Order: sequence, then C-alpha cells, then structure tokens
Amino acid sequence: MAQKKVSGGIMVKDDLIIELQPNIFRLKGEDTSSHSYLIRGDYKNILIDSGVDKNFSKLQKSLLTLGLKIRDIDIIINTHEHFDHIGANRYFQDYSLIAAHRFAATKITVEDRYVTMYKSGDLNEPSLRVHLWLESKSQFDLGNYSLNIIHTPGHTSGSICIYEPVRKILFTGDTVFAGGTLSYIGESGSVGDYIDSISHLATRKINELYPGHGKISKSPEEDMQKAILNARALLRDEGEVEITDFRDVPK
Ligand SMILES: [Zn+2]
Repeated sequence: MAQKKVSGGIMVKDDLIIELQPNIFRLKGEDTSSHSYLIRGDYKNILIDSGVDKNFSKLQKSLLTLGLKIRDIDIIINTHEHFDHIGANRYFQDYSLIAAHRFAATKITVEDRYVTMYKSGDLNEPSLRVHLWLESKSQFDLGNYSLNIIHTPGHTSGSICIYEPVRKILFTGDTVFAGGTLSYIGESGSVGDYIDSISHLATRKINELYPGHGKISKSPEEDMQKAILNARALLRDEGEVEITDFRDVPK
C-alpha cells in the first residue's frame, strides 16, 4: 500500500490511520471496537474514545506511528459509557485525565455493567476512573482547535457529541452514523431523547461527521434527517428500521 505523509512529516502506510483534518486522525477500531480519534493539539493531545481492551495493542501501535506514547495522551474523552468506547481507558488512566459526561461517569465509576457491558476478562481488573465530569457547554482549548461538548442523550443517557467550530466537524460516538442508520438504543437510553438530541444538533452548521463506528459522513444534514426518520419509524414499530448493533459484530 502506498505511503502517505501526514502532519509532522510522518509517513503512514495503512488505512488504520487517516488524517481527516490537519492533526486530527482517525485510528481505526477493529471488529467490535469503536474508532479512536486523536487530536494533536498545540497545548494538549486528546483521544476521543479508547476502544475495547483487545484492540489496545493496535491503538498503541497507531499512536507510536504518530510519535506518541501512551503517556503523551493528556486527556481521553469518552463519547458515552459503552464498553466498546471505554475498554482501553485502563491503560491510560494513570497518565491521562479521563473525561465523560456526568451521566456516563456515574455508570463507569460504580461499574454499572448492566449499562456499560464492560468486562476486561482480567482477574485483577483495575476499577475504571473518570477524572473530569462533563456537562453541555464544557470546552477544551487545545490552541489549534477547541472542542465543545454537547450532551446528546438517546443512545445512552450519558452520550455526548463533540463539536469543533472552526472546521465545523462533529464527533458523534454512537449517536449519528453515516447514512443515518440507528444504533441500538441502550438500557439507559431513550428514543424520544434521541430524536430531541438530533433535532438540536441539526440546527448547527456541520461539514462532516466522525462517528464511533463505520465511515465518516460528508452529508451530515441528510444523515441526521434520516436518523430522525428511522427513530420515528422505530417508535411506530414499523419493523423496517435498519439498526447497526456493534455489540453483535463477529469477533
Ligand atoms: Zn454505544
């Protein structure tokens, strides 16, 4: 596969790492794992979602390719409380600040596995920690980028989207996917909240969506409208709604 030069003059040779914007990278999650997004800031490095435990060595390799060790990640922001987004937090939490919406933080820190479905399979599993409890309008200033937190309950109660206002890009976790397909509405989620959250998001100018799974979206308006229609159809029990449930992706 051809090599590509990314910011910092680093050569990247596979599709596990894609530079979406200058110094914003998608690090691909394999199988059930969510993608991770790295924002290499002027002041701090942020990783959005850490993926599942067993994807960690791939994540670590991708970070090393970009010249970053685990301890170079200053902050991890979890888009929500599901295992496939928080699973590798345990490898970062001694060095990085872990940030999540307060409704996600409560479930992660009390080990509410009914909602998070988190299990590392490790007998000496350390407790997961959340150091920064976020609310709507929390903001991270990285110099070259700023990240605004928007609480978007629906998929789960602690789901957030992260908006970058200069590039007008939105990191959506499991809230909006390319094509507007729905994710499973989790135990703490609500279809009504979901419709409300997306209607609220749709009032912003957004150029691209960066979801937790699958492809990025270059048609955010269309995809958000489709997601709302799909959610309404789900409420009417129409049975034709396409739901992408990443819990069931084969290993
Ligand atoms: Zn999820």
